[in-house]
Amino acid sequence: MKTVDILDTPIEYLKGVGPKRAEVLKKELNIFTFDHLLNYFPFRYIDRSKFYKINDIQSDVAYIQITGKIISIQKLGKPRSERLVALFQDNTGTIELVWFKGVKWMINKLTANEEYVVFGKPAWFNGKYNIPHPEIEAVSEQKIDLGEKLQPFYPSTEKLKSRGLDSKGISKLTRTLIAQVKDAIKETLSDQILNKLKLTPRDEALLNIHYPKDQKILDKVRARLIFEELFFIQLNLLKLKLLRIEKIRGHKFPVVGDYLNNFFHHKLPFELTNAQKRVVKEIRADIGSGIQMNRLLQGDVGSGKTLVALMSMLIALDNNFQACLMAPTEILAKQHFESVTKMLSGLGINTRLFTGSTKAKDRKEIHANLNEGNLQILIGTHALIEDTVIFKNLGLVVIDEQHRFGVAQRARLWKKNIIPPHVLVMTATPIPRTLAMTLYGDLDVSVIDELPPGRKSIKTAQYFDKDRLKVFGFLKKQIKKGRQAYIVYPLIQESEKLDLKDLMDGYESITRAFPLPEYAVSMVHGKMSTKDKDYEMGRFIKGKTQIMVATTVIEVGVDIPNASVMVIENAERFGLSQLHQLRGRVGRGSDQSFCILMAKDMLTNDGRERIHTMVKTTDGFEIAEVDLKLRGPGDLQGTQQSGILDLKIADIIKDEKILKYGRNLAIEILKDDPHLELKENQPISNHLKYLSRNKPNWSLIS
Ligand code: ADP
Ligand code: MG
Repeated sequence: MKTVDILDTPIEYLKGVGPKRAEVLKKELNIFTFDHLLNYFPFRYIDRSKFYKINDIQSDVAYIQITGKIISIQKLGKPRSERLVALFQDNTGTIELVWFKGVKWMINKLTANEEYVVFGKPAWFNGKYNIPHPEIEAVSEQKIDLGEKLQPFYPSTEKLKSRGLDSKGISKLTRTLIAQVKDAIKETLSDQILNKLKLTPRDEALLNIHYPKDQKILDKVRARLIFEELFFIQLNLLKLKLLRIEKIRGHKFPVVGDYLNNFFHHKLPFELTNAQKRVVKEIRADIGSGIQMNRLLQGDVGSGKTLVALMSMLIALDNNFQACLMAPTEILAKQHFESVTKMLSGLGINTRLFTGSTKAKDRKEIHANLNEGNLQILIGTHALIEDTVIFKNLGLVVIDEQHRFGVAQRARLWKKNIIPPHVLVMTATPIPRTLAMTLYGDLDVSVIDELPPGRKSIKTAQYFDKDRLKVFGFLKKQIKKGRQAYIVYPLIQESEKLDLKDLMDGYESITRAFPLPEYAVSMVHGKMSTKDKDYEMGRFIKGKTQIMVATTVIEVGVDIPNASVMVIENAERFGLSQLHQLRGRVGRGSDQSFCILMAKDMLTNDGRERIHTMVKTTDGFEIAEVDLKLRGPGDLQGTQQSGILDLKIADIIKDEKILKYGRNLAIEILKDDPHLELKENQPISNHLKYLSRNKPNWSLIS
């Protein structure tokens, strides 16, 4: 039986919306139904009991509320770049309110000499404060319910505002909505959970998140909604994992045959580390079980993940299956291809490279060979998930640097076969545990926590520009010992020209300090042709040059054990994970390696913390945790497209404890009731179904 749920009503039918507004709500905020709007939460609340005086404004950090009159309104600037400036006055002074957008609309809204309440964030400009794009409202029009001192503040956009849907406008809609749907809000958690955690019931929580009675109630309902959000994400991931284990058959690879044995006995030039042995065992257990493997392999730069992946692929081949390895960039794919073909030389394995720039003729041939099954290992980029790439019997997919691939992309590979291939995801940038729990909660995890033997921990130090001579002196000493050094300059897309100039200037001063014939300096950067790059790299690899001046093109893959010094110029301009990757280019041989971070005298707090962290630790996990803290999860590579991290209210860092608690509770519930069939779990089961219907990313995993 299907009952009509008022919350599923299309948003255009809400009083005050209509087709035009519905269109922007859908486009800008993904609000299609009543329920979507109900779940569009304020991101801040204005405490209407607090007012600032204009001459008390001292900093541009906090939002403030002032009340007073507009004494003049002016349009300034040229027609194409005009701005609206209103001079605003209270009994202590004046301040300018400034609009750069929506000038026409605002100018009609403002009236001189009328009393207004203004809310915004002051900015320091030209020696005084102004308030750009404030929220403004005539006192005469203010409808403040005395029971509600906290007024909701909804995020809005220029397009929404042009349809009258600024925070105020949205607030009017949520008010109408709540009055209408109050009684239709269903509980999503079980009585057991509500009682155990003393959580506010859902209807009350939703009413109060939009219109909180007071701060205390707000805090309490926020906690309930944060818990709910994180709990259901975890429950969904864990349930998918259960489903996979129960239902999704996998290819069974019982045999270890000639390919792996020959490689292991005749090609492998060293012993595996204990960590590598353990992980190979874990993978073998998975792919021998008949259940589809979905495993994340974490391990720091240089820990030997690629080798583990290669051995896993050989097992697939031994069982008459094909394997593919997917890398996030063309350079990486090419490097993988080169090192894999080198390691497999003489074993009679047909391996090909397939990327966006593979020529049509080669493509055709690759397609045909894949289809017939005589192409055994395919290495490439995103091009591998094109619909035209069809394997005869794909048994194992290795994805390198997974965090740049979304869950949805992973899913596309699965659709290529009726029985999905085993999936091994490798990541060199360690993912903080909290994030891993959310992004990869459905995966099993293996960790290589040991570097190949003989590697010494890299010594890291920071120097200021004025210490340059000292640093050069150190480099000379190392070079005398036979070592080689990288000197890396930042490359930031927006000012490519400037960056290139930095690099050229740097190259010049380096060649002056390290003159021929005693020294030779190489240089590579992204604007060089592949041929020139290869030539310069080749000279450095052969030891003909001692110093390699480069941009971050050397960030990935390059493996030159004799290069033991990494100097990073303008280190403050690099992100933490990039610094860590760069440092990973050294420390690959048996000599002591060094990383020198050159920085400006004046550092921002973030810059200082990044450099400090690098000096303090070489532990990739610790670095990743700090990175997450400094940048927030939204900025971490690849998390945006995953969709799973579009959190409404929870904050993966601040709410780490709730996240862990929610995950454990989800595990407990599923242990007793894996299919959520118990009566007490009905609300949970219903809501999970509802979410999978509404969040396409959630269901794509299977
Ligand atoms: P990752 O992919 O984890 O960054 P790689 O697989 O590229 O690491 O390995 C880094 C380097 O260490 C390579 O030169 C590789 O040949 C070497 N290596 C891998 N495993 C071992 C081992 N057990 N002993 C010695 N060297 C190893
Ligand atoms: Mg690697």
